[in-house]
Amino acid sequence: MSCCNDSGLLPVSDAINTMIENVSQSTKIIQLPIINAKGFVLANDIVSNINVPPADNSAMDGYAINATNCSKDHAFTIVNKLLAGQITTEPLAAGECARIMTGAVVPPSTTSVVMQEKAFRIDNEVAFNQPVVAGDNIRRAGDDIAIGDVILTKGTKLDAAQLGLLASIGLASVDVFKPIRVAIFATGDELQCGGTTLLPGNIYESNRIVCHNKLIDLGCEVVDLGIIKDCPNAIMAAFDEAQECCDVIITSGGVSVGDADFVKDVLTTHGKIDFWKIAIKPGKPFAFGQYKSAVFFGLPGNTVATYVTFDVLVTPTLKYMSGHNHQLPITLTAISASAIKQRQGRAQYLRAIVSNNHHQLTVKALHTQGSHMMSGVSQANAYIVLGNQQTNINAGDNVPVILFESI
Ligand code: AMP
Ligand code: MG
Repeated sequence: MSCCNDSGLLPVSDAINTMIENVSQSTKIIQLPIINAKGFVLANDIVSNINVPPADNSAMDGYAINATNCSKDHAFTIVNKLLAGQITTEPLAAGECARIMTGAVVPPSTTSVVMQEKAFRIDNEVAFNQPVVAGDNIRRAGDDIAIGDVILTKGTKLDAAQLGLLASIGLASVDVFKPIRVAIFATGDELQCGGTTLLPGNIYESNRIVCHNKLIDLGCEVVDLGIIKDCPNAIMAAFDEAQECCDVIITSGGVSVGDADFVKDVLTTHGKIDFWKIAIKPGKPFAFGQYKSAVFFGLPGNTVATYVTFDVLVTPTLKYMSGHNHQLPITLTAISASAIKQRQGRAQYLRAIVSNNHHQLTVKALHTQGSHMMSGVSQANAYIVLGNQQTNINAGDNVPVILFESI
């Protein structure tokens, strides 16, 4: 399934491409009221069957006028008053006007709308202190959305803006891809749940909650199978339970070359699996494959390695499986505040803080870069991404950054 570079490491982009080639995109569709559709992915293109706005209407509170053949100091006779929601079929004659509020449909023969701040009104007549430009302040029917426009395409993630757009064409419900179900479990005899007194030699388990939250952000359903001991039978039982109910299984720990790394053994014997050494720091050991009908991702146990490999490798693959039409985050450029050593051969994802200094993005790599140092991740808002061919960075050099919120 995979190929490697000279150092025997698999480049990140090759790993992502290989995974995407070996999974299938969601085909199950559900219909949801739009109020419940935030975070879901559109299952088909949305074509508007109405114009938005539906009719020519006023962009201002003011006067709809018919200025045909009128001099610039003409006094217009007020013949009507239109609040939003009120309409008239009575055309304005040349030299006439109607008092009109924002959103009201303009009367037939309106040549423009003049805002009330420019108007001098005496009794039933109004004149304007600035030249009137034809067409001003009229929002034309269909100038936002025209009948037949594709307003959103299949694969779009629905958020406030997209849901607002759907509401604006009158949709009450929408077809979206059914979320994929993901089972997660952590492996390790040393792992203990929070809320208990830490026993000697143990550490508190923290990878599941990271995966859980990232999966929720991706719109997946999560089945948490807890902490599983480093015991082949227990691991096998967990895999069996997971594949019964889920499309995907994500584990943390047990995929490197330690004596207790049984995830690897179980999957090699009973599943289809690639154990990869990815050209990435942190997160070199990573497994991808299939257990019965479920897609499998085996993340390294170190907490930061779990965090980074989830963002860099799992997220684009799960986005693809969930039907998203954009899988990769946007890369920006920022000035590095410090020198960074880069050993060639592995891409580095350094945890960093991006700030905006006088309209120039600058970025500072945190000191806490160990693959077990979650404190650094929690302070960071971005990765500095140094490619596997990149040489050392000097302070003041431009570096590529990916904001966490764009992942
Ligand atoms: P492993 O990949 O199982 O060899 O684990 C590598 C390191 O990560 C070890 O120091 C483990 O104790 C630690 N670790 C593994 N899984 C977790 C977890 N779920 N939460 C916190 N630390 C973990
Ligand atoms: Mg372990």
